Amino acid sequence: MKTCQPLLLTMSILAFFAVGVQAEETSPWRAHDLNRPLPPLVTPASSTAPGRPPSDAIVLFNGSDLSEWESKGDGPTKWLLKDKNLIPTPDAGYIRTRKAFGDVQLHLEWSAPSPPKGNGQGRGNSGVYLMGLYEVQILDSFKNKTYADGQCASLYGQNPPLVNACLPPGEWQAYDIIFRRPRFSADGQLISPAIMTVFQNGVLVQDHFKLWGPTEWLSYEEYENHADKLPLRLQDHGNPVRFRNIWVRELAETPVYSGLATVAPKTDVEPDTLEKLTGNFIGEDGTEYEVRLNNGQLQLGIPERYFDLVPITQHEFNFKHTFAKVTFDIDDNGQPSGLVVNVMGEKRPAKAK
Ligand code: MG
Repeated sequence: MKTCQPLLLTMSILAFFAVGVQAEETSPWRAHDLNRPLPPLVTPASSTAPGRPPSDAIVLFNGSDLSEWESKGDGPTKWLLKDKNLIPTPDAGYIRTRKAFGDVQLHLEWSAPSPPKGNGQGRGNSGVYLMGLYEVQILDSFKNKTYADGQCASLYGQNPPLVNACLPPGEWQAYDIIFRRPRFSADGQLISPAIMTVFQNGVLVQDHFKLWGPTEWLSYEEYENHADKLPLRLQDHGNPVRFRNIWVRELAETPVYSGLATVAPKTDVEPDTLEKLTGNFIGEDGTEYEVRLNNGQLQLGIPERYFDLVPITQHEFNFKHTFAKVTFDIDDNGQPSGLVVNVMGEKRPAKAK
């Protein structure tokens, strides 16, 4: 059997890489598992001032009209505009935005009916679907028990909120959602999943959760290739949940970096030339500078913090990782009489000691 171990190890490693981002563990919970612990209660500070749209937001609803929304089949929405609120009409169905979105920051305020009617999933149920597929549950979960992955601020059927940050029915509540869409390759394979971060009333309730597919009732849905931008949807679950102040900011892709940029040398400087540049300098403001060689690397100490220097010319050097450079003043003997440190455009001259 021992001879098989390298093969088994190789196969394990190959299997690991073959599944890539899918290698993470599956959830120990089935959909709507009643054995799943309920999140602890947190009382938000207050419903306070609603989040006003910043200058680059696309306002989807500000209380004046429903022009940004439509019902299925491109028709105007049958939801009510009443007292500057948007309210589902019974049997009016879901509504969606006329515009399509991918990565977004979404702000949305809602209020569950008061006095409350019904219980469990029947009390103040609605939902906001990013890309029309990924639901952040809206539910009156204030003293209203239901399954954990279906309560307010759950990612429906997948992940309960970290805490229950619900306010009483009738109060305005705010969702601030950061959503990253799933990425698919040109041939339709999943590259990276949808990721959701949600604040409810200023409290973090979903922390960078990676969805494993569209949210769904009862069933386990996996990703299917879809467009980069799709409309947002609001759910009509038969309860007159009110909405106001809905806006969205489209997000650019966030570059992923592993470290700072490194400046490449633009010339070679002989070791004896570098040696001549070493010494101590005193700035006009009293700052002590030390130029030294450390294993052949020229460094500037400001003071006692040493920065690697990369040559631009024989007497001018960039900092290796910092937007700064140092220029040496060279006297007739080829010795440095002083230097000028230029840090982000601010010049700091110093004389040799
Ligand atoms: Mg819902």
